[in-house]
Amino acid sequence: METVQCIGCGVLIQTEDPTKLGYAPASSLEKEEVICQRCFRLKNYNEIQPVELTDDDFLKILNGLGDQKGLIVKIVDIFDFNGSWLPGLHRFVGNNPVLLIANKADLLPKSVKKNKVINWLKREAKSLGLQTADILLVSAAKGQGMVEAMDAIEQLRKGENVYVVGSTNVGKSTFINRIIKQATGEEQVITTSQFPGTTLDMIQIPMDDGKSICDTPGIINHHQLAHYVDPSELKLILPKNEIKPKVYQLNAEQTLFIGGLARFDFIQGDRSAFTAHLSNQLTIHRTKLSNADALYADHKGELLSPPGKNHAEKYPELVRHEFSIKSPKMDIVFSGLGWITCQTGNVVVAAHVPKGVAVMVRPSLI
Ligand code: GDP
Repeated sequence: METVQCIGCGVLIQTEDPTKLGYAPASSLEKEEVICQRCFRLKNYNEIQPVELTDDDFLKILNGLGDQKGLIVKIVDIFDFNGSWLPGLHRFVGNNPVLLIANKADLLPKSVKKNKVINWLKREAKSLGLQTADILLVSAAKGQGMVEAMDAIEQLRKGENVYVVGSTNVGKSTFINRIIKQATGEEQVITTSQFPGTTLDMIQIPMDDGKSICDTPGIINHHQLAHYVDPSELKLILPKNEIKPKVYQLNAEQTLFIGGLARFDFIQGDRSAFTAHLSNQLTIHRTKLSNADALYADHKGELLSPPGKNHAEKYPELVRHEFSIKSPKMDIVFSGLGWITCQTGNVVVAAHVPKGVAVMVRPSLI
């Protein structure tokens, strides 16, 4: 088949999958100049549309970033920090500065001090090997922290381009759309412009000084729980509002079921407090460790839901990960679902998640 490129961003046009990079309706191929759906929406509605791409495509884009000059803006989801982290980014950015933006601040309990979260982000970024020029906490959806973010971008980019990267669902499109609206007002029509010879498949949103904000497509992080649930149930899992932490005083050999999605066992240690940070819409069931297997086998999809009746069969088998926690205030993170904070140290716990979903331990965020 003859290959056709988008006149906006240079991506190869495909007509099969609207959620993937380079999609254009088949009818548009008859035109002389073909524009992909993402560029079309930017041009006509001033709106960035989220798209996904494969791991290989993403590596190609990351590789290209090191050859460019400009500011890298890396967006992560504060509710799913580890799940939305792009692990290899520091190897690809070359000498370019990285501004780390943690989005969805509105989901954190209001009582949490912003500085504490920023300090936590600093430590985590450092231990994950990323050097950052600055770290900011924003809510792109609610507009919190966006003025500071735009100021920081302006300062750090030193007159160069801005490259925005992030995994899918971190709110990258919401963030860029807000920048477009705040910078231009609704009126002005934005056009896409391809830098000659670019192979980066990026949408470039021109700024006043002739430089651009470049939107890269989002990478899918396969170890996030979101990829294992039916899309119709995803809205129960992803929090929409400020999360209300729930405290459980547990004795050893007690279990918490997070719906039917995951399970937390307190195996050994003195009676202690465990704080669940999950979507408010999820129901937690407490039971004896000795009953837990049978309860799950009998009530998955019913008492223990989501996944609901229609999806429980397809939901992957849970795999057990055991942790011996020495220090107090450690989070057991269920990638994409939330976390449970062990308030005291010297406990042995286990997390059960679908095969393929990551579980990790980290110093408490809150
Ligand atoms: P992208 O895939 O990274 O481009 O992400 P989107 O911009 O499409 O957003 C993914 C989801 O996160 C959508 O459901 C958004 O409504 C939601 N979202 C984006 N920004 C925020 C935010 O600041 N707070 C909250 N609570 N949700 C957000």
